[in-house]
Amino acid sequence: MLDPSTSVQYVKGIGPRLADVLAGKGIHTVDDLLHYLPFRYEDRLNPRTIPELRAGEMATVIAEVRNSGLFRTRRMPIFQMTAGQGRTRLKCIWFNATYLRDKFKPGQVVALYGKVEADNRSGELQIVQPQFEILEEPSENGSSDSAEKKLAESLEIGRIVPIYEAIGQGRLTSRWFRRTIHSALENLAADMPDTIPEMVRRRLSLISPLEALRRVHWPEAGESVEDLQSSRTPAHVRLIFEELFFIELGLELKRREQKAQTGIRFQLDDRVRSAIKKILPFHPTAAQKRVLKDIASDMETLSPMRRLLQGDVGSGKTIVAFEAAIIAMENGYQVALMAPTEILAQQHYFSARRILEPAGYRIVLLTGSLEDDRKREIRRHIGQGSAQLVIGTHALIEQKVEFAKLGLVIVDEQHRFGVLQRFKLMKKSGNVGAGGPPVQAAPIQSATIDPEAEPDVLVMTATPIPRTLALTLYGDLDLSVIDEMPPGRTPIVTRRVSDDRAPEVWDFVRKQAAAGHQTYVVYPVIEENEETEIKAAAKMYKELSRLFADLRVGLLHGRMDADLKEQVMRLFQKGGLDILVSTTVIEVGVDVANATMMVIEQAERFGLAQLHQLRGRIGRGAAKSYCVLMTGGKVSEDGERRLDAMVRTSDGFQIAELDLELRGPGELFGTRQAGMPSFQVANLIRDRQLLEIAKREAAAVLEGPNPEISQKEIKEALRHMRTRWQKSYGLVEVG
Ligand code: ADP
Ligand code: MG
Repeated sequence: MLDPSTSVQYVKGIGPRLADVLAGKGIHTVDDLLHYLPFRYEDRLNPRTIPELRAGEMATVIAEVRNSGLFRTRRMPIFQMTAGQGRTRLKCIWFNATYLRDKFKPGQVVALYGKVEADNRSGELQIVQPQFEILEEPSENGSSDSAEKKLAESLEIGRIVPIYEAIGQGRLTSRWFRRTIHSALENLAADMPDTIPEMVRRRLSLISPLEALRRVHWPEAGESVEDLQSSRTPAHVRLIFEELFFIELGLELKRREQKAQTGIRFQLDDRVRSAIKKILPFHPTAAQKRVLKDIASDMETLSPMRRLLQGDVGSGKTIVAFEAAIIAMENGYQVALMAPTEILAQQHYFSARRILEPAGYRIVLLTGSLEDDRKREIRRHIGQGSAQLVIGTHALIEQKVEFAKLGLVIVDEQHRFGVLQRFKLMKKSGNVGAGGPPVQAAPIQSATIDPEAEPDVLVMTATPIPRTLALTLYGDLDLSVIDEMPPGRTPIVTRRVSDDRAPEVWDFVRKQAAAGHQTYVVYPVIEENEETEIKAAAKMYKELSRLFADLRVGLLHGRMDADLKEQVMRLFQKGGLDILVSTTVIEVGVDVANATMMVIEQAERFGLAQLHQLRGRIGRGAAKSYCVLMTGGKVSEDGERRLDAMVRTSDGFQIAELDLELRGPGELFGTRQAGMPSFQVANLIRDRQLLEIAKREAAAVLEGPNPEISQKEIKEALRHMRTRWQKSYGLVEVG
């Protein structure tokens, strides 16, 4: 008998060697194997006869090989195979398929699946590039109906057949998986406990795990092939929900643990309110007011704030952060504000000095590029509490910075930090439980904070994270969204232009300059390669300086030293440059309202989220802004879709959703290596609705006394959740 936790090597047909191949795909246990789901299904229950075929449809045909051969045409080799049923014939062709040369023998029974098409010349029906499977070798003698053969038949013909992705360079074929998984299921101990609490199961009419596994690998005759194909059968729903439920249960538990900790009860009285009012340079938008209210009420309660503030580029998050900072500072606490780059930290520092310093708040900037002496001095101020608002980069978490009385941590542009870094940061701010699997361990206090209380944490992100992702990546945080732009913005006109029309584009840049407006010219560079980056940016700078000899052109790239960067940025900010040639270092946060034009060179090479971030640098004032996406050379299909999306919409959420579809969740934030849970059966894009339900149900389970659910069940579910988390986060080391 097999247990789900048994190593796959004990499944019939798998030895140590194949176990190795499977391990390469993350399949270690019987349970993993059973969660290796078919990627599609073939209806071999009702295979078509050849005369039934119609052009344009997908069909399965089971037939006997008659003959096959390779033909060389002028353009490419074509492999052709003719299969037959009695007297009828069906032609199948594969392009460029020399590898099929010795594949078929007359008399073999094959299953063919593919699109039926009419031949251009003869009009005869054929299947082009069908998927195929050899079901039976030609019978040499009469004794072919062995038990082995019967099993093969029952697994492969006369049913809805699961098709698995082959692995190990084709060594483990779909057919191999069918047999092996079938045998594992047959030998599985029949008492597989259901770890999802009964209340939840009942509410969602979930079938049992064992039944789900059987039906997903071995669909019943009545099952809809369409539902199978779209992973919407009760069996799929059960398995997908289960995976999502335990992830959400872990996140929900973390959230609750954090809430249960003792934080700081900030006072928000009239004095604090008027301190906030005093610094406001403009009327906040309704959205800004609403999110500040969320934040303020978190800060007033004793449990520590863990909030994600999401708002598109330019929606005005900074001022909200400053308002929160004032609440903390007016209560006698220090605030740490962290940004992902020095430029951004510097920019926050300048705005903080402009907006907060006049009111008497003491602000310091601590970045890696400062002289050691200066760093030491700043650290001393922080340690003594004389610095109230500390702005910096990662240096704030990575180096030994001791705060006298840290009350609030603000992390800007969260998407630039990996998930791991966020966990690290939470840990720094005292919240040790945030990294690994949720456990109810006593939090270890970090020496850098008031041992009595957890600081509040506000995380801000400019990338409009699709809700689906926010729920998983940030499910342990509360969410506030700024969904409104400050007044007086004119929509940005975005155009796509090919390289050969550059002269027209440069003419337009000149016109903008004549009207007193500024332009960014952005060039893509490969970040890993310092030399290429400097060369590419410098070369373009030279070209444009020559072209615009009468204008003031500046250069900004990531490898410049911090002082110089700052000088250039300030100059541009003050209007001292007409054109800023830059790499993507200007991507986040940079705020120059007079810049009305952006030219992005080789735009096809940028990711969608990045293009959107870049474009967010313009359209910040009342004047009309223009974004030109220049393309050189051939653009890939995905590239086309990205550019098209940029021209069509400037709605960050739409763009983020599309980006998620094009790239998949792992790549969206570079989190694949950073500890993003990897899913076995769920797909965040396809299963977004189930994810929402899973979140709701997880919250309900932890909600507290409920007659419908026993303590024993909850305990069991939590135990199971920890095992799963350990597995998904298993390799993640949390500082
Ligand atoms: P982001 O959310 O991208 O960080 P910022 O906080 O940098 O956006 O704000 C973008 C610009 O909008 C800044 O110049 C800021 O001063 C301005 N701004 C923010 N809120 C308002 C408002 N309510 N009214 C007018 N201008 C605003
Ligand atoms: Mg910002």
